[in-house]
Amino acid sequence: MKRRTFLLGTASGFSVLALAACVPPAPVPTPSVSPTAVTPSLVPQPLMVSRTNWSTDAFSRGSFSYAAVGATPEHRTALGQAIDARVFFAGEATAGEEPGTVQGARASGLLAASQVQDVAAPGERIIVVGAGIAGITAARQLVDAGFSVVVIEARDRIGGRIDTVNGDWPFAIERGPSFVHSTSDNFLDDELTALGVTLLPFVRTPEVRTRAGLVVEVSPVGTQAVTGALDWAADQQQDISVERALVDSGEAGLSTTANAEGLSDADWLEYEIATKLKVETGATPSQQSAWYTTDIASADDDQIVIGGYSTLLTSDAEGLEVLLSSVVNRVAHDDRGVSLRLGTGESLSADRVIVTVPLGVLKAAAIEFSPPLPFAHRGAIAVLGMGVVDKVWLRFDAPFWDTAARLWTIVGEDADFPVWINMMPLTGEPILMGLVAAENATRLSELDDDAFLAAALTALEPFLAVPD
Ligand SMILES: Cc1cc2nc3c(=O)[nH]c(=O)nc-3n(C[C@H](O)[C@H](O)[C@H](O)COP(=O)(O)OP(=O)(O)OC[C@H]3O[C@@H](n4cnc5c(N)ncnc54)[C@H](O)[C@@H]3O)c2cc1C
Repeated sequence: MKRRTFLLGTASGFSVLALAACVPPAPVPTPSVSPTAVTPSLVPQPLMVSRTNWSTDAFSRGSFSYAAVGATPEHRTALGQAIDARVFFAGEATAGEEPGTVQGARASGLLAASQVQDVAAPGERIIVVGAGIAGITAARQLVDAGFSVVVIEARDRIGGRIDTVNGDWPFAIERGPSFVHSTSDNFLDDELTALGVTLLPFVRTPEVRTRAGLVVEVSPVGTQAVTGALDWAADQQQDISVERALVDSGEAGLSTTANAEGLSDADWLEYEIATKLKVETGATPSQQSAWYTTDIASADDDQIVIGGYSTLLTSDAEGLEVLLSSVVNRVAHDDRGVSLRLGTGESLSADRVIVTVPLGVLKAAAIEFSPPLPFAHRGAIAVLGMGVVDKVWLRFDAPFWDTAARLWTIVGEDADFPVWINMMPLTGEPILMGLVAAENATRLSELDDDAFLAAALTALEPFLAVPD
């Protein structure tokens, strides 16, 4: 059953489950085994499509880390601890501040480079594994400080999850991050602007539509229920999931009686979960820590990067020695140095290494460490979560919609793509970017391209312009 595993088997969740039973399920896209049975949508076929699949990407295995039940900020600190002053770690999952973001990853790279500088002798040879923002930032700092650095990258490009694609698109599209989350000490926005990248303010006030295409006002009850549940959970003896917090606090017991718009309070809770909690973390409420889940209230006045996030890496990468298409599968160290084995069987040695591969890669044990990682690292890798958010970019011949809203969301159904960004008012191009998250993203990751596109077009039906 697709609609929410949320609140399954809980007494106070019956209202939500009852609602789930009443609402006809959204059309389920046909899996790849029978692609011919894809139901055509009323939405016109796009001219161009770009789809991501971060969960099946061997060098990411997910989109970004999140606070799973039981995970604490101390787990991130533990993951970032150097081992014997030889093996250092960086990457968004190790970031104490703003994990799961570009700026968090970047700060972790700077920190790891400083840790190396504290113990390394001048001119030492340092290997950096991974040419994402954490790895490139660390390598840049070390090269500038006079160290001999080589970056080893599994992909045939630098950037990692920063994945800006030009191709035939009218503007470069972002298959990874699109937003710069505004924080008090954010240094990325100024820097991107200085690099000539277009950043536009993106206030997250959506146009909300029902499946029938009715534009409705957001009800605050969903946000209030989640906030109430998290406040309640903060006073409990131990961490629990957001789902359990909603149930046990009583906040999930919302009315399922539909109003004139066909929406109930329970629908607005589902909406809050689908469009915020899941999209911000890539995880279901049953997976997320009620103590440490993303503070959704803080994600308000972001800026959207229009084609150019990768510019951030270009100048830092200039002159760096980067071995592309080189997969590291073993990292060994002793008191004399480190030795790395590549997928080709070749070995490389150095004085120290900074490992910046994503948490998903560490979780999959795709790199063997010798000696094995300390318990604290293994514990952190096990308990931190790797969420899944995928994107679809669609370029149309002409807009089939008649709204100028930048952010579109869908309420009252379990839409696979509950959130869309309308690039038309931002760029003048009839291009949409859809987001699918958590278990929906995992399910869609198994679909072939036709079925995936059909699911995206079906989700867009509420935004079809009404004929005159
Ligand atoms: C769909 C999506 C949307 C996002 N949206 C935002 C957003 O709007 N704003 C924001 O701030 N952040 C966002 N993020 C998160 C952000 O992209 C990441 O936090 C950040 O880019 C991570 O950088 P990193 O250097 O830690 O990891 P990565 O960029 O993943 O770099 C790690 C590198 O290691 C390489 N590697 C992996 N395994 C091996 C191996 N065995 N050998 C050698 N190399 C290896 C990888 O190929 C990769 O290049 C988003 C991410 C995704 C996927």
